[in-house]
Amino acid sequence: MIKEKLTMAIKILSETVTSQIAAGEVVERPASVVKELLENALDAKSRSIEIQVNQAGKELIEVSDDGIGIPGDELMLAVARHATSKLESAEDLERIKTLGFRGEALASIASVSNLTIESQSEAAKVGKRLMVKGGKVGQLDEIGMSHGTRVKVQALFSNIPARLKFLKHDLTEKNQIISLVNRYAVEYSDVRFSLKMDSRSIFQTYGRNDKREVLTQQYGLEIGRQLVETEFEDGDIRIVGFVSPISLTRSNRKELIFFVNGRLVQDVTLGTAFVQAYHSLLMVGRYPMGFLSIRLRPEDVDVNVHPSKSEVRFRETDRVFGSVQRAVKRALLDGGVKVPALTVGWIPVSLQAQSSFPVQARSAERNFHSPGPQQSPVEFGQGFTPIQPPIARLPLLRTIGQVGLAYIVAEGPDGLYLIDQHAAHERVLFEKFHSQVQARISSQSLLVPRLIHLPVKAAAVLIDQLLTLKSLGFEIEEFGENTFRILAVPGFLADQGEETLIQAALEQAEEDETPFQNAWDLKLIARICKRVAIKSGKILTLEEARKLIEQLEACSQPRTCPHGRPAMIHLSVDLLERQFGRRGAR
Ligand code: ADP
Ligand code: MG
Repeated sequence: MIKEKLTMAIKILSETVTSQIAAGEVVERPASVVKELLENALDAKSRSIEIQVNQAGKELIEVSDDGIGIPGDELMLAVARHATSKLESAEDLERIKTLGFRGEALASIASVSNLTIESQSEAAKVGKRLMVKGGKVGQLDEIGMSHGTRVKVQALFSNIPARLKFLKHDLTEKNQIISLVNRYAVEYSDVRFSLKMDSRSIFQTYGRNDKREVLTQQYGLEIGRQLVETEFEDGDIRIVGFVSPISLTRSNRKELIFFVNGRLVQDVTLGTAFVQAYHSLLMVGRYPMGFLSIRLRPEDVDVNVHPSKSEVRFRETDRVFGSVQRAVKRALLDGGVKVPALTVGWIPVSLQAQSSFPVQARSAERNFHSPGPQQSPVEFGQGFTPIQPPIARLPLLRTIGQVGLAYIVAEGPDGLYLIDQHAAHERVLFEKFHSQVQARISSQSLLVPRLIHLPVKAAAVLIDQLLTLKSLGFEIEEFGENTFRILAVPGFLADQGEETLIQAALEQAEEDETPFQNAWDLKLIARICKRVAIKSGKILTLEEARKLIEQLEACSQPRTCPHGRPAMIHLSVDLLERQFGRRGAR
């Protein structure tokens, strides 16, 4: 019998295959293509850069600039691997002043797309066009154009189905691109940027060298006004930028942005330095916003760590770390931040109950937490196929009171229940919302349609979400640039304030990166419910608490909030007896 050959003979991979493998490191997703093309345009000293993206970059990414251009006889080289005009010797690697230097971006992009490059250098009389299709370089054609360069990337990843499949939800890809261009537009505020998506203008900057102006365009007037400017210098380290006052926070670190020598970098250390400068001034789970441009001598930072060039290594990490902290602290002090006096003590307790003994919230928490939730938290996404145990429904409960302004105490046939009022209300709203959407129960029209004006990115996100929101009972229409008219909202949420609802939807779209459209709607619903659910810290009357418990009893999965966290802790009679030493080993 012929044995099946297990190994393949070693051979040198073809140029096409090696290019595609290398491309994987440089062009991970559409936003990476935009980044490479933008950086090339900036390296070419452009004053104006126009970006057009269709279908989240999968159909087209086009970047046009008015920079120095590429001489016609060098176009062929520009798309060849390891061809760069920015580096000559290994020593040059020590002090890189340009954004590019590896000479592989265009070659990589060309190997995973159809690439057209048109360019006219300042000295040339005519422009030249070169197309690369399926890795094959075509003819050089003469064309008429003004000086500068236009790179067109079409059918990205169409020759790598695996990569295409792993791309996130279109909205996520678009958000990535918008954020990226936004950030470069701030850092290079002296350059004009224009970003269009599917022929709709997303934003445009004026090159007036005013970072606050560009930040305000992106985040809106409210935030733009509040950001505190900072300037810091220590020898050859120089930092300029903006930081948020303590009153302005986010739920994640995504709006902490760092440019090092003009390059957008991802660096955990810088983020940590930034956050630490706020000490304990921010609530747990809240993060500041910030935009810092850090300049140091090119030889003091190694940018050649990864092909995507978004990681850097500092020669003196501690010094950079300290400088970032001081830059942030200085801004906070200038912004008039005072350290608030910390109040230490018991959380106030309100027990509006038949039961009359006072319970200290802290000690209550300590003791009652020990048994832990009976169910392990269910991951969202997967969690909506009911995998709950049959005992999921609640027995009828007698509401006793509220403790710690956050938990409802209730008694059931099988012991005591501590119910997180926020999580419980989230669950109630979620199930109601979900069933209404499924039953197509109509929305409620507003008596007076409400106009809202949004920052650019938010407006783009909302446009993308209009259909989804419609299926949830919202009726929203575009009403001029970045302005929308809200005509109707889901009936049972009508008294929650339209703006809150829209805000929750936007947050969800911005923060979530799920690739799956079906889970998307549910997550959106969950986010809206989280936003409008009763907060912990709110005093509930006994009547209100009872009503909430009644609604919770009607839920099919009352024991967790829609995100899978426990909504209650159950202390069974059995457990109580054991705790009091009435049963079991003493
Ligand atoms: P790198 O930027 O690392 O040099 P690229 O593959 O991105 O490598 O680009 C290759 C070369 O093509 C660059 O070195 C530059 O000479 C030229 N080039 C690319 N894009 C532009 C542009 N927009 N304007 C002028 N020259 C460009
Ligand atoms: Mg480049």
